[in-house]
Amino acid sequence: MKLNQLKIPKLIKNNSTRYNIKMNRRCFHKPTFVYQQDKIKYYAADIYGINEFKGHLVINLTKIPSGGAAVNINQIDTLKDHIIEKPKEIILGWEDFMAPPVLSSFWSALHEYCIRNSFTEVAFHCMQGHGRTGTALAAMQIACMGSNAVDAIELVREIHCQLAVENEVQTGYLFDLDEELNQRMIDYSLRQKLEDKLNKKINHDLVENLNFFRF
Ligand SMILES: [Zn+2]
Repeated sequence: MKLNQLKIPKLIKNNSTRYNIKMNRRCFHKPTFVYQQDKIKYYAADIYGINEFKGHLVINLTKIPSGGAAVNINQIDTLKDHIIEKPKEIILGWEDFMAPPVLSSFWSALHEYCIRNSFTEVAFHCMQGHGRTGTALAAMQIACMGSNAVDAIELVREIHCQLAVENEVQTGYLFDLDEELNQRMIDYSLRQKLEDKLNKKINHDLVENLNFFRF
């Protein structure tokens, strides 16, 4: 095959996205401020970028750590004074590519929890910061601000990454959430068109290239 027959994906560039073929075609997501509500700033990050987060609370959407053998270092008297204080972390254990394992009431309960605890800087992260992280940030806007699913998804994609909310399961979840919580009834065929449009924006070849590891 001649070199000019090879399909090379377009470069994607925005404030928070670096697309580098040499680095296994992976984008990098340091904590990015996505939206604010009631003085709480919500951020998105990937599994590496989250280490730079200096806020109050991390919502870890992956399954790591998952085992019962994990020990909280703060509970070991001889070691707890030797660590740098990190933000509190909630681990959700959300299956990759799937809808979240929570009730529709979870998102507003989480927002209330942040208000009660005076957490004003809160970050969501998964592995690459796309599917689960994008879905969580869109769900927060739908549940807590009354946004519609299209606006919520587009805002996360525009500010954070075009690959956010990465499949039909996750866009479908967000439309269902909007219907249930905001009583927004959308005609079935219109909803299909809107979902198709949102899912077409996902470059599946690129997603495939990015999926070199998953947790
Ligand atoms: Zn990205």
